[in-house]
Amino acid sequence: MAMVPRFRFAPSPTGTPHIGNLHTALFSWALSRHTGGDFILRIEDTDPERNTPAAAQAMMEALTWLGIDWDEGPDVGGEFGPYVQSARLARHQEIAAQLLAANLAYYGDDPTQQTSQLTNQPLRLRLPRSGETIVHDALRGPIRFDNVLLKDPVLVRSNGRPLYHLAAMVDDHDMGITHVVRGEEWIASAPIHVQLYRALGWQEPVWIHLPLILNKRGQKLSKRDPEGGYLISDFQEAGYLPEALFNYLLLLGWSPDGEQEMVDKWIVRQQFRLERLSTSPAVFDWDKLNWVNRQYLQRLSDERLAGLIRPFLEDAYDDLPMSEAWLVALTAVIRPDIAKLEDAIDLTEWAFVDDFAYTANARAALATPPAHPVILRLISELAALVILDQPTAESILRQMRADLQAAKGWRAPDIFHPIRAALTGHVAGRPLPEIMGIIGKERALQRLARAIRGG
Ligand code: GLU
Repeated sequence: MAMVPRFRFAPSPTGTPHIGNLHTALFSWALSRHTGGDFILRIEDTDPERNTPAAAQAMMEALTWLGIDWDEGPDVGGEFGPYVQSARLARHQEIAAQLLAANLAYYGDDPTQQTSQLTNQPLRLRLPRSGETIVHDALRGPIRFDNVLLKDPVLVRSNGRPLYHLAAMVDDHDMGITHVVRGEEWIASAPIHVQLYRALGWQEPVWIHLPLILNKRGQKLSKRDPEGGYLISDFQEAGYLPEALFNYLLLLGWSPDGEQEMVDKWIVRQQFRLERLSTSPAVFDWDKLNWVNRQYLQRLSDERLAGLIRPFLEDAYDDLPMSEAWLVALTAVIRPDIAKLEDAIDLTEWAFVDDFAYTANARAALATPPAHPVILRLISELAALVILDQPTAESILRQMRADLQAAKGWRAPDIFHPIRAALTGHVAGRPLPEIMGIIGKERALQRLARAIRGG
C-alpha cells in the first residue's frame, strides 16, 4: 500500500484563534491538499490551567470559516483517534515508562543519579552530551545543534503530567504523521524532538518550520498591535471575507506560479509546492489584504453584498428606512469605495443621518454667493416632483447647470459643491444623482431647507 502523506495542525486551545494559528494551519492543509495527503486536526489540551473546550470549539469554527477542512479530527473521528490529546494520556505514560526502563530518561535534575518515580521529581529525556543533532528541515536544509548546549528536557512533570515534547511527538508518531508543519518558534525544540524519535527508534517525520509573520515595523504580531488586531474575530468584525483572508494568508510565504495574486483552492491543489515556500519572514500588509478583499467584494452581486453589509448597518444606525430594494440600491452606490464590509458604515452615513455636521469645506461652499440661489432653485425643482429618482435627479442637475452657466456664468463646482454640502455635509463623495436617488424627495428637501436656514 502506497503511503499517503499525513499532515497535521495541533493547536493548543488557549484563548482566541489568531492569524498566526490560521496561517500555520493553512500551510499544513495546503501542502496536504497539493500532495493528495491527509490533514489531521489534533487538539493539544494537556494544560488544564490554560486550555478550554470553548477555545477548541472557537479554533474549529475559525478553521471552518476560513475554508480549511480536515480528514480526521475530534469532531469527525478517524482510525487514529482520539484526536484530543488529553484522552491519550495513558499512551504518553506508557512511552514515558518505556524510556525510563531503557534508561533513556531519568527522574530529577541529575542524570547520573538513579531515582525512583516516587521522589516527586520531573522525568527528563537523557540527551547525548557530545556531537551534534541535525534537524533536517525541508525548507531550510540541515539545522545543526551542538549537543553540549542542549538541556535535558522535562517530559513529564513531577505531578505526572506529560508535557508537549513527549505528548506531541508520541501523538505524531501514533497518528502516522509524515510531515510536521509548524511555526519557526519551534526550531529551538526540534533537536529534542529528533532525539526523542531516535530514542524511541521511530522514523522521523519531515520537518517544515514556517517563517514568522511580522508587522510593517518588523515586529512579531501581537494582540495589541498598533497596525491592527490579529485575532480572527478582528478580521470577521471588520468584514473581511473568508475567501479573501484565505487568499491573502497563502501569499504570506508562498508564491504561486506566475506570481498571480488571486488564488483559490484549485490553485492550491495544483501549485502549493514546498519549493515555492519562502524561509524569510513575511510582512503582514494591510493595504494588500484590503486590495485582495476588495477584489472578492467586487465579484459579489449587489444583492449578495447588501446582505453582507446589512448587519453592519443595523449595528451602526437605528431606525433605518431599510427596505431590501433600497438597501440594494444603496449598496450599488457605495460599492466602488468598499474595501471591507465595515467601511459601509462611514460610506453610508449620508444615507442614514439627516442631522449630520458640515465639514469646513462644506460650510465654505454654503457661504459662496451662488449657494443660496442654487439651493432655492433645486428646492423648487424637487417640490414639483412626485418622486425623485436617479435619472430625474440627473436631468434636473444637468438642466440647472446649463441654465445657470448661461445666465450667471457659474461653473460646475459653483453649483454642485453647495448642493452636495447641503445634501451630505461634504463637498466630495459619490455622484449627486446617485445620492439623491437614495435619500429621495422628502429628505432631500429637508436637507436643502436646513442649509438655507444656515444648518
Ligand atoms: N500545540 C502546539 C501549539 O499550539 C503545537 C506545536 C506543533 O505544531 O508541534 O503551538
